Amino acid sequence: MSNHSLIAEKSKRVVPGDMLAVIEEFSSSEGTYINGSSIRASKLGIANYNLKKKEIKIEPLKKIKVPMVGDSVIGQVEAVQSNIANIRIYYINNERSLSNFVGMLVLKPESPVRKGREKAIICKLGDIIRAKVTSYKNAIVHLSINGDENGVVYAKCSLCGGSMNKIGQRVRCVDCGFIEDRKLAFDFGEAYLK
Ligand SMILES: [Zn+2]
Repeated sequence: MSNHSLIAEKSKRVVPGDMLAVIEEFSSSEGTYINGSSIRASKLGIANYNLKKKEIKIEPLKKIKVPMVGDSVIGQVEAVQSNIANIRIYYINNERSLSNFVGMLVLKPESPVRKGREKAIICKLGDIIRAKVTSYKNAIVHLSINGDENGVVYAKCSLCGGSMNKIGQRVRCVDCGFIEDRKLAFDFGEAYLK
C-alpha cells in the first residue's frame, strides 16, 4: 500500500495569465492554456499540481472547502517540533480540499499507558493522520487526535521507508522489522483516501 503517493500534489492560488509551469514539466488541463513553452492559468482559482500524473488544472475558488470546528480532516505531517506538529490538510470530511490549510496539533500523551514512557511518539514527519478541528482562531486551525477514529492512518518506516503494519498499538516495518510508537487510528493501514 503506497497511498502516500496519492498526496503527491501541491496547489497555489492563481489569476488568469499566471505562469504555472513549462510544457516539459507538466501537461495542460482544465483551466489552463499553453503559450509558447509555458502553461498559464486561464481563470482565477487554485492551481492543482498533480506531481504523479504531471498534470495541472485550475479548480474554481468556490469549490474550495475550508476546515470548520468539528470537521474531520486528513493530512500529512509536514513539520514536527518538540510538542507541536504541523499538518497539511488534504481532506475535509473525506472530501479532497485544495484550500492548502495547515493545522496545528499539540503533541501530548493522552493515555496513562503512554504517560509512563519517556517520549511517546505520537506521529512523525510524513505520516498521514486523521484529526478533528477543535478551534479556528487567528487563522490557526487547531487539531485533536483524541478518540479511536483519530490518529495516524498511514506511516512509513523511519529507517528504510518501508510500509508499516499495525502490531497492537505500535507499528512494524514489513521490510526491516523496525518497531515504532504512534498514536494510531483504529483503521491504521486501511483508511480510504479518494
Ligand atoms: Zn524499515
